[in-house]
Amino acid sequence: MSLLEAEIASTEEILRAEGFGSEADILRTHILLLKDEGLREQVRKRIEEEDATAESAVAEVFGSVKTRLQRSGHEITREKASDIEDLHRRLREGLDGQKREDVLSTVCDVEAPVFVTQELLVTEVLEAKDAGVKAIIAATGTPLSHAAIMAKAFGIPVLRVAGVESLREVAGSRVVVDTTNGRLILGLKDPEIEEWIEVEKTDIGGSVASPLSVYLNVVDTHASSTDKDGRIAGIGLYRSEFLLTRAEGFPTEEQQYREYRTLCREWPASPVTIRTFDVGGDKSLSFFSLGPQENPFLGLRAHRIYAYHPEILITQTKAILRAGLECGELRLLFPMIETVDDLDAVLSLVGEARAQLDAEGTPYRRDFKQGVLLEVPSILWTLQEIYDKVDFVSVGTNDLLQYHFAVDRTNGNVGHLYRPYHPTALRALAHIVESAKAASVPVTLCGEIASDPDMVPLLFGLGFSDLSVDVHAVDAVRRAVPEGSEDRFRTIANRCVSVSTAAEVSEILRNTGTSVPTVSDIEVRTTGISDGAMDPVCGMVVHQTGNPFVLESSDRTHYFCSEECMLAYQSASP
Ligand code: PEP
Ligand code: MG
Repeated sequence: MSLLEAEIASTEEILRAEGFGSEADILRTHILLLKDEGLREQVRKRIEEEDATAESAVAEVFGSVKTRLQRSGHEITREKASDIEDLHRRLREGLDGQKREDVLSTVCDVEAPVFVTQELLVTEVLEAKDAGVKAIIAATGTPLSHAAIMAKAFGIPVLRVAGVESLREVAGSRVVVDTTNGRLILGLKDPEIEEWIEVEKTDIGGSVASPLSVYLNVVDTHASSTDKDGRIAGIGLYRSEFLLTRAEGFPTEEQQYREYRTLCREWPASPVTIRTFDVGGDKSLSFFSLGPQENPFLGLRAHRIYAYHPEILITQTKAILRAGLECGELRLLFPMIETVDDLDAVLSLVGEARAQLDAEGTPYRRDFKQGVLLEVPSILWTLQEIYDKVDFVSVGTNDLLQYHFAVDRTNGNVGHLYRPYHPTALRALAHIVESAKAASVPVTLCGEIASDPDMVPLLFGLGFSDLSVDVHAVDAVRRAVPEGSEDRFRTIANRCVSVSTAAEVSEILRNTGTSVPTVSDIEVRTTGISDGAMDPVCGMVVHQTGNPFVLESSDRTHYFCSEECMLAYQSASP
C-alpha cells in the first residue's frame, strides 16, 4: 500500500469510528481511484515509453481524466472532477516533496475561522473539521460534490461566492457568514458582530432541556474540547487504539501518558472514560502481527492479546492512571470481556500496573473507576458476578448486536439483518439496564445506536439515560427526548419488548407517533462495499472484479450473480 493510500485509509478508519460512515465511504472511493489499474498503467506508460518524469506523467493523466469528467453531461459526474484534482494535488506533494499550506496551519490560533478556497476539495474539508473551521467559502462546486457532502455532515456550512480572489483584501478581518440567507457580510463593526454572535447563541439547539446525560465518543485526545457549555457530561468513550493505528510501534508509557493527559486536562471536572486498546477485529496494526486470522472478529482481539503480551496492558494502565490525576473522574474501560475469568485476568494485570507505580513511587489516580464494555453476548449471562467486581458498565452495541445476530453490517447482502430495534435486541438491552439498576451499577450506552435520534426514545424508554455519542449527534440526541416524556417512552418501550417481530415494533412506534428507526436499504447495501454492485434482477450485491456475468450498456455496466439472472435481464430489456 502506498503512503498516500495508508494515510487516506487511516483517516477513513477514524471517520468510521466517529460515526461518519458515509463520509468514510467517500475516502474509500479515493483509495479505489489510487488503486485503479487503468490509471496506473497510463502513468507507467508515459514514464517508460515517453520518458516523462513521474510528476508530469501524473499531471497529464489526472489532468485528462479531470477534463473528461468536467465535460460530462451529468452534474454528479462533473463533480467527481474535484476528487481527481484532490488526489492529484496529494500525489504531487508526495512526488515533489513540497507540502502545500494546509487549512490547519492557515487558521491556527484563530477563533471561529472561516476558510476561503477556489475549488473545495475533500482533503480541505477534513482539515477544516480538525481545525474547527466554522464556515467555508468556495468559488466553485455544488452541493453534490463529495467535499460539500462531507462538509454538510461535519456541520460546516459552505457558501458559494464568485470571485473569491477579492476576499484576499479582507483576510484576517471579522466577517459574518449568514447561512440562513446565504450571505457573506463584510465590513461590520465589532458591536454589530457581537449582535450576530448573540443571534447564533439563541439559535443553537443545545439549550434544549433533556433528561439525558450525553457523553462524547472520541478517537483523538486533541479533538475533545469541542463543547463544554453544559450539554456534554464528559468523555464516555475514548477509543485509545487509534493512537496505535498511526504509530510505528507501541508507544512508551511516557508517550501514552502525555496523550492521555491531554485528554484528561480538557475535562478537569468531568468523567473521562478511557477504553484500553481494542486491537484486532477491524483494527489491525502495521507493526504488530496478530497472526493468520480467518475471521478477525472471532480471533485475537483486545485482552486476548495479553495472554501473550501482558506488558501491553500493564504499560497502558500505568500511563492512564498517571494521566487520570488531571480529570474530574477517571474511568478505565475494558473491551471484549466475555466472562468473569477474563475480567479477573485483566484486573490482575491492572493490579500489577499499580504495584509497579507504587514501587516506583510514581503518583497516580487511586480512586479510579473500572468498568466492562458489555459487547460479547456471553457476558449477559453472568452480569451479577460482573457487577460485583466493577464500578460501572458500558454497552457496546456495535459489537454486541453484531455477535447477537451473527451479522456483518458491512456485508451488503445481510447488513439489513442487523436490527437494533428488533425485540430480541431490545430484550437483551432491557436485561442489561434493569439488572445494572437493581445492582446500583451505573450504565452507559456508547454504541452507534445512541447517536441515532430515532433510536434514542426507545433506548430512553428501556431505561438508558446516559448515552455516549458522536460529537455531531449531541444536539439531535438531546432533542430526541423532551423533558417530561419519561412515562410515555417507558410504556412504549415495554410494549416493544413484549412483541416478537421487528415489524410489530415498527407498528407500535408508528401508532404512538414515535420515530421509527429505519435502516436505509441503499445505505446498508452499499456501505463499506469497495467492489460491489447490485444485481438488477435479484437485488443481491455481487462482485465487480472477476465477475464473468457482466453486461455493458451505453451508459452503465451491470453485474449479475449468475448466468440465469443475466439472461433474465437481457430478455426483459427492450
Ligand atoms: C461497540 O462495539 O459498540 C463499541 C463502542 O466499540 P467499537 O465500535 O469501537 O468496537
Ligand atoms: Mg466494540
